[in-house]
Amino acid sequence: MTTFADLGLSQKVLSAVTDAGYTTPTPIQAGAIPPALQRRDILGIAQTGTGKTASFVLPMLTLLEKGRARARMPRTLILEPTRELAAQVAENFEKYGRNHKLNIALLIGGVSFDEQDRKLERGADVLICTPGRLLDHCERGKLLMTGVEILVIDEADRMLDMGFIPDIERIAKLIPFTRQTLFFSATMPPEIQKLADRFLQNPERIEVSTRSSTATTVKQLLVATHGKDYEKRAVLRDIIRAQDDLKNAIIFCNRKKDVADLFRSLERHGFSVGALHGDMDQTSRTAMLAGFKNNQITLLVASDVAARGLDIPDVSHVFNFDVPIHAEDYVHRIGRTGRAGRAGAAFTLVTKKDQKFAEAIEKLIDKQIEWMNGDLSALPAPMESFEPAKTGRDGRREGGRTRGRDRDRTGRPSSSHKTDIISTDTVIPSEPVAIKAEPVRTERTARTEQPKAARDFRDDVSPSRNNRQSPYPANDDRRNRYRRDQDDGPTPVGFGDDIPAFMLVAGKY
Ligand code: AMP
Repeated sequence: MTTFADLGLSQKVLSAVTDAGYTTPTPIQAGAIPPALQRRDILGIAQTGTGKTASFVLPMLTLLEKGRARARMPRTLILEPTRELAAQVAENFEKYGRNHKLNIALLIGGVSFDEQDRKLERGADVLICTPGRLLDHCERGKLLMTGVEILVIDEADRMLDMGFIPDIERIAKLIPFTRQTLFFSATMPPEIQKLADRFLQNPERIEVSTRSSTATTVKQLLVATHGKDYEKRAVLRDIIRAQDDLKNAIIFCNRKKDVADLFRSLERHGFSVGALHGDMDQTSRTAMLAGFKNNQITLLVASDVAARGLDIPDVSHVFNFDVPIHAEDYVHRIGRTGRAGRAGAAFTLVTKKDQKFAEAIEKLIDKQIEWMNGDLSALPAPMESFEPAKTGRDGRREGGRTRGRDRDRTGRPSSSHKTDIISTDTVIPSEPVAIKAEPVRTERTARTEQPKAARDFRDDVSPSRNNRQSPYPANDDRRNRYRRDQDDGPTPVGFGDDIPAFMLVAGKY
C-alpha cells in the first residue's frame, strides 16, 4: 500500500502530515502528489471530502521550500469560488505548513483591503483568493502576477456555476505561460473540459470516484407539501419536532433570501438556529460556522453555495426546505449525514412544482425515495390563512408574521452541469460530534449595546442595500463581479432583530 513517504514529499511536510494523524494517502493524493512534485500539470476530477485540498497543498509546500517571496510578487496562486473554501485552504496551509516559514495571504471579499495590502507588501509565498477580490487588487496596481510559478484552480465547475470563468481567464492571462497549473473539478461538463484544454499542458489526469449514490444508512424521505412558504415552514417545524434522535441538522434552501426568512422564522419559534449564505459578512459567516461546529447552535440554515465544500462535521439530519434543482446537489447535501456507516436522516419537502426535480434525483441515485405520509396526490386542501398564533415551547408567541413571504420560487436556470462518473463513496468520514440539543434562547438587545459581530451580522447581510459594505466604486465591471461573488437569488433584507445568542458574546470572534 502506498504511504505518504512514497510520494516524494519533503521531510518537513511528512512530519506535519504525521502530526495531523494521517497515515495513508487518499486516491487523489496518491495520484496527484508525485506528478505535481515533478512540476507536471494536473487535472484532478474529485469533489471535496476526498482529501483533494491536501493533494495540492502538500506538493506546493514541498516545492516552495526552494526560493523566497518578493514584495507584491506572489509565488503561487490558488483560486477558490467562495470565501469559506479559500479560508479552509488557508487553514490547510497552516496545518501542513507548521514546519515552514511561509507567508500566506488570503484575499477574499468582505475583508479590508488595507490589511490584505500589508500582507502583499511583505511578499506572499501563497496567495489564496476569490477571483473578484484578486482582480481588484490587480486593478489597484498592488499586485504583480509575473512571479507566479504555480496556479491552482479549485472547484472549477462551481466557478462556472457562479459565473467566474471570465475572471479566471483574465487572471490566467496575467500569469506566465511557463507556470505549473493544478486544476480541480468535481464534474467535467464540456465547458470545463474546454477550459482545462486551454489552461493545461499535457496534464496528468486523476479521476477519483464521485458520489452519485447516497449512503444506505441514511433514511431518506420525501414530504409532500403545498408551495406557500408559511406552509412549508410549518411542515418543516413539525418534522423537526418529531425527530427524537436529532442531534444537529443542516437545512438547505435554494436561495439566500429563503435562508434569511427561514432562519428568522425558526428563531421566532424558539429553535437553536444559525444561518449561512453568501451575503453575510465574513465575520458573521465564520462565527456561524464556529457556532455550529462547537454545538452552540443545533440547526444551520444554508444555501448550497455557502455550504458547498465546507468541512462541516457529520450531522444527524439534513432537511431540504427546497428540492435542489441540480440533482447532484442532493447527493452532496445528503452526504453531510450518515458518514462512516452512522445512521442519518434526510427529509426533502416537495411541492407540485418540484416534482420533476425530485424525479431527476431518483434517476441520478437510481433509487426511489419513499414518501412520508403519502405523495402529492394525498395532500389535504391547502391552508387558507396565516400560521396560527400559538405559544411556542419557550413560551413565546408562535406564528404571525407571514406578510410578504408568500411568493413563488424560481430556481437557478439548469446548466449543462452533469456527473459523469458513477462509482462508490470515497468521502472521508469526519469525527463524530456530541451536540447539545437544547435550544439557545435569543436576547433582544438594543442596537447600541450589541457587540460589533452581532451588529455586523444584522447590518451587513444586505450589501446592495448598504453601500458601506461594498468596496467597489461605481464601475459596472466591478459591480458585476461583486454580484457574482454571492449566492443566487435576490438579496435578503437582514435578519431582523433576532441575533443568535452565541453571537452576542463580545470579543469572542
Ligand atoms: P478535502 O477533500 O480536502 O475537503 O478533505 C476532507 C477531509 O479529509 C478533511 O477534514 C481532511 O483533513 C481529511 N483528510 C485529508 N487527507 C486525509 C488522509 N490522507 N487521511 C485521512 N483524512 C484526510
